[in-house]
Amino acid sequence: MPQPYCYIQKRYMPLEEARLPVMTHAFLYGTAVFEGVRGNWSEERGESLIFRPVEHFQRLKQSAHIMHIELPQSAEELADITAGVVGGSGYHEDTYIRPIAYKSGEVIGPKLDGVESDFMCFAIPFGNYLDPDAGLRCQTSTWRRVPDTSIPARAKVNGLYVNSALAKTEAVENGFDEAIMLNDDGHVSEGSGENIAIVRHGRLITPARSDNVLEGITIDSIFELAREELGLEIIERTIDRSELYVADEVFLTGTAAHISPVGELDRRTIGTGKPGPITKQLQKLFFDVIRGKNAKYEHWVRGVKPVDEAKASREPATAGSKSA
Ligand code: PMP
Repeated sequence: MPQPYCYIQKRYMPLEEARLPVMTHAFLYGTAVFEGVRGNWSEERGESLIFRPVEHFQRLKQSAHIMHIELPQSAEELADITAGVVGGSGYHEDTYIRPIAYKSGEVIGPKLDGVESDFMCFAIPFGNYLDPDAGLRCQTSTWRRVPDTSIPARAKVNGLYVNSALAKTEAVENGFDEAIMLNDDGHVSEGSGENIAIVRHGRLITPARSDNVLEGITIDSIFELAREELGLEIIERTIDRSELYVADEVFLTGTAAHISPVGELDRRTIGTGKPGPITKQLQKLFFDVIRGKNAKYEHWVRGVKPVDEAKASREPATAGSKSA
């Protein structure tokens, strides 16, 4: 039976068996760094396609480095562990994979050095996070994006997501789908869990990395597709809030959100209010790539078969035999 699956304290186990002591430093102080990775199920291939796992683990290692969290495994070794988790879960559907490097020591005091670290990873079934077709209704958040001088936004620190939680909750309670956050200077930063890009005069523009954004893997992939396949120019620069209102197209990108067009912001229609032509072309390209339907970008996906089936295909079936 497919089930949520986990690797923690150097062992694989069903997620429901995973336990953490209450005094775990990461729980007391938010001292952990994480990734969100997708396993996209391919019916044709009968396997999950993990999207750019090595790039995710390179970013996790950077986050851990910033946060003094020991993560001795290489990005490739972490990707292998993750493949074990996804295969072990046995799902025949899209999964969300959550690797976390965390301060596992049970110590009072926020100091990072001298506190033990561990790596864990789990996989659960997961569908769409935001609607990729409708045109999202967004709100500029009253919460500002946390600045690099307080908590570095380029490190995916668990505790930092209190900032996202406040912004997302405010937007949803006000009847919107997602929040767009400005940085302390009042310039556009990103969504609560997504990078943002706009289309103006046929060019793609996204806030500079120094505007307190997470350096996203989805936007990096989409920009590569835009450049290579559509010949579009990409610009990283400061974006004003009002520039979003007059952009031809605005979209959010992220592992959970994929590429989701913004139809309305602060009660102003963006473009036609419907997914624009460039967003739609990028969506088509991106969805084909993540489902393994574009051979040119096959190196971005890692196929993993559900473990029971991988075993069954190696072992001759005998009457009454059980797959473990
Ligand atoms: N910004 C924030 C705050 C996020 O949480 C995410 C999701 N990880 C992103 C941007 C997009 O990053 P990625 O495309 O690597 O998932």
